[in-house]
Amino acid sequence: MFRRSAWVLMALAAILLAACAHAAYTNRSQLLLISEGQEMALGLQSAQEVLKKEKESHDPFLVERVQRVGWRIAAAANKPEYKWEFHVVQKDVVNAFCLPGGKVFVYSGILDLTTSNDELAAVMGHEIAHALLRHGGERMSMALMTQLGGEAASIALGSTVSPAASQVFNQAYGVGAQVGVLLPHSRAQESEADEVGMILAAKAGYDPAGALSLWGKMDAYAKSKGQNGPAWLSTHPTNAERIAAIKAKMGPIRARYFQRAELR
Ligand SMILES: [Zn+2]
Repeated sequence: MFRRSAWVLMALAAILLAACAHAAYTNRSQLLLISEGQEMALGLQSAQEVLKKEKESHDPFLVERVQRVGWRIAAAANKPEYKWEFHVVQKDVVNAFCLPGGKVFVYSGILDLTTSNDELAAVMGHEIAHALLRHGGERMSMALMTQLGGEAASIALGSTVSPAASQVFNQAYGVGAQVGVLLPHSRAQESEADEVGMILAAKAGYDPAGALSLWGKMDAYAKSKGQNGPAWLSTHPTNAERIAAIKAKMGPIRARYFQRAELR
């Protein structure tokens, strides 16, 4: 028994040494136990599950709006290995997410709330930023360490995807709205997704000020719903500090990216 746990510890130590990565754009150091390829394979698998479970909207107004904003942000993201798809789910919940590999889901409830395309670009830029920055992989790595212990080693070292890994992945990515508990984003991930999301939106020609009105609306919405707000808000805490941070970043991002995009 001792020898087995000693082996597991050694394997984990080896993985930790190998698993230190740095986030794109911000260079923050990250713990990543799975490769980007594994993350993308899990993303494709979950996208198929979401499409089976949820009712896709075929309302041309909603679908075209999401496709138009989505493709412009995808172009700004410059991630050629992603196979982008933009789906509208017909469900009155305030929710949206992007799976690694580029499958984006936007719920009709959040479309009702985002009355301008600058606000929708803020939602999609933020969610796409979480995927590009591998935040799900990072949260999944933390969850693997705490929930599975030694099994994390076999998942990290193996090339196949176990059901346990898929479940942790779904929770880490917010697909867990259907399966149970959602893992909240950390503060560091949230502020990173806000910043990179604004950069992507601005590069795509949307005014990053959309992020400010979006989070103002989210704050009001959360207050009107009390503690048990919708799925998206339970993983995205709104607060005055976040809005202040967005305000502080707004000017430089507008000047550097948006004003240039407008002139193109
Ligand atoms: Zn977020």
